[in-house]
Amino acid sequence: FFIAFEGGDGSGKTTQIKLLAQALTARGFNVLVTREPGGTDIGEKLRALVLEHGQGEVDPHTEALIFAASRAAHAHQKIRPALAEGKVVLCDRYIDSSAAYQGAGRGLGVENIVDLSLWATSNLLPHTTVLLDVPLGEGRERAGARGQADRMESADDSFYAALHETFRARAAAAPARYAVIDGAQSVQEVHRDVLAAALKVLS
Ligand code: C5P
Ligand code: MG
Repeated sequence: FFIAFEGGDGSGKTTQIKLLAQALTARGFNVLVTREPGGTDIGEKLRALVLEHGQGEVDPHTEALIFAASRAAHAHQKIRPALAEGKVVLCDRYIDSSAAYQGAGRGLGVENIVDLSLWATSNLLPHTTVLLDVPLGEGRERAGARGQADRMESADDSFYAALHETFRARAAAAPARYAVIDGAQSVQEVHRDVLAAALKVLS
């Protein structure tokens, strides 16, 4: 089973994936934790390439194609093989992040970016996508507090609003394939909801 985690910077994806991986492993599942951009040798190099430039420094089309290349390597070389071995794959960001950041935030069009990702992955979609929904501004504060907002410094409020809107709209358009979780709760409360959503898919 393939479970993607989505949400803006500082929404708790990485923390929650760690907790979920522990809980599922304790229940006997064979879990693979991975992330985007990244996840493979090539993907991690592409990640470093994009992240060493500030938001807005790389031409949007170029950025979208680098993320798509990272995703292609990830889907074909890592996620599909893991799924074939019966693993539960927990992925920190996937297609919705590109839809939000490159499609909406950078103005390339959500549909174009989703089509590009579907082509890149040969249509590999998660069984479920966990959207950690935090109020606008809160995630940004958390990410800023841990010093990870450097790259996003130049992004303005409308960029963040576009991300937020896009994540929510995509979840609302396909409710059967999403678990929208209130990410403003405590870490343990969010974990309880994430675990319940995952077990529903896995059972
Ligand atoms: O989630 P993570 O911290 O690994 O993301 C790394 C950076 O890449 C973040 O600043 C995030 O906003 C950015 N990003 C992006 N477009 C994506 C995925 C991530 O700009 N499709
Ligand atoms: Mg993270």
